[in-house]
Amino acid sequence: MKYYSTRSGSTAATGPEAILRGIAPDGGLYTPLDFSGMQIRPADLLDMSAIEISGTVVGKLFPDFAPGEMNQLIERAYRGKFETDELTPVVPVGDRYVLELFRGPTSAFKDVALSVLPRLIVASREKLGVTDEIAILTATSGDTGKAALEGFRDVPGTRIVVFYPDGGVSDVQRAQMVTQQGANVRVCAIRGNFDDAQAGVKAIFADDEANGWAAKSSVRLSSANSINLGRLAPQVAYYFKSYADLVLTGAVTLGDEVNFVVPTGNFGDILAGELARRMGLPVGKLVCASNANNVLTDFIRTGRYDRRREFHKTVSPSMDILVSSNLERYLLLASDCDFALVRRLMDELRDTGVYEAPASLRETMRRRFSAYCATDAEAIEAIGRVWREQEYLLDPHTAVAWVAMERFCREAAPTNATVVLSTASPYKFPHTVLRAMDGEVPQDGFEAMDRLFDLTGVPVPKNLTELRGKRARFSDCIGREEMLSYAQRAVQP
Ligand SMILES: *Cc1c(COP(=O)(O)O)cnc(C)c1O
Repeated sequence: MKYYSTRSGSTAATGPEAILRGIAPDGGLYTPLDFSGMQIRPADLLDMSAIEISGTVVGKLFPDFAPGEMNQLIERAYRGKFETDELTPVVPVGDRYVLELFRGPTSAFKDVALSVLPRLIVASREKLGVTDEIAILTATSGDTGKAALEGFRDVPGTRIVVFYPDGGVSDVQRAQMVTQQGANVRVCAIRGNFDDAQAGVKAIFADDEANGWAAKSSVRLSSANSINLGRLAPQVAYYFKSYADLVLTGAVTLGDEVNFVVPTGNFGDILAGELARRMGLPVGKLVCASNANNVLTDFIRTGRYDRRREFHKTVSPSMDILVSSNLERYLLLASDCDFALVRRLMDELRDTGVYEAPASLRETMRRRFSAYCATDAEAIEAIGRVWREQEYLLDPHTAVAWVAMERFCREAAPTNATVVLSTASPYKFPHTVLRAMDGEVPQDGFEAMDRLFDLTGVPVPKNLTELRGKRARFSDCIGREEMLSYAQRAVQP
């Protein structure tokens, strides 16, 4: 099986190569193009566990791994780490369904992918006979850092350093990171904002001195932020799993199409739905939900991608993004593998901040996708209303998707089942959720969690309650110019 860079039909890699490199040498993203050998019949999944479904789906996407090997890898990645063996349960809310992706070890949807990615990286390294230590350097605005730390913790052959902006993450997110266990992890604050941390990490990857040092020290620098196909593959599985669940409860008849509404930032989650469709899942509409940073909504509606706009800091921070990297993969798939077109559009985006998709691509996209956006006020209103009417507690990201779902249902009046993907526990954003419930809002994050629990009785995830008693292990805070030397010390074998 070959995976192609989105920017050139002659740059192909095997699965292990694509996973270990993360990004293609020409700056493109590795993408599978031929799905004929990857077909899965939903009927075959009905008596499988969530872990077995994941093994099957990820195994189809990466046939370089033998089925037994992949199943064991997935089993080790997930067993006992999630709140439920279902991994990603489906919950009926009113006459819709919510697919809960936040039941993992850090209560973030990124756990689904970052539990598996470290093991795929280690297995790929072995397959390719690479003996270097893998050193993961990651900048985080909150969620990715913790999920990556937990995923890479004590995975042999790997080390991880996470940089976060000092004062730029919530109390709870900071506590999650600085109490992280594991012998191969390091966490450090940066004086500056998230962009400074991110720019610092990117500068290290591009620094000749850093790369020379890494090669001499038998260290291979890599990133958990990168658009690694190994991070996308585990996300395809929950589309299949939710479909099987809906069939088993009688909500859906085998063969019926199901619509999925996806709170979208980097376009990874929703692209996983498109891959599921290409692998044989009856997917109806994929509904892209954006917050005030609605560059994707505009693109899906008009075919024009224009990043030249104000950046909004919203109550759904994980969706505050103006350049959605994974869209590049969709452009290649939807244009029937027109590599030259993708390269041209990406060049235009880099040089001018805007590009226009050709009419045929626009048509293909509009047959498959819809898009709606929600303001902070609309999302907050939905949190309060859904709690009052359905006793279901939405986090601010899921609330954006809920509003989009309501608009979609009003406009398209679908007669088939519609599933809203839920990407975070409400307890990770207790201030916003309390505001939505007209509750008093304590400043301290942990007090806000308590108060939300008192108001709703919705159980607080164990990993979050346990944080309070944990000792902080990391207190370093450095300037951006010190990041390289800090990283070198931290990952030195
Ligand atoms: C990362 C994230 C998203 C966006 O997912 P993409 O794959 O980047 O589109 C949405 N919600 C939460 C809570 C996230 O952490």
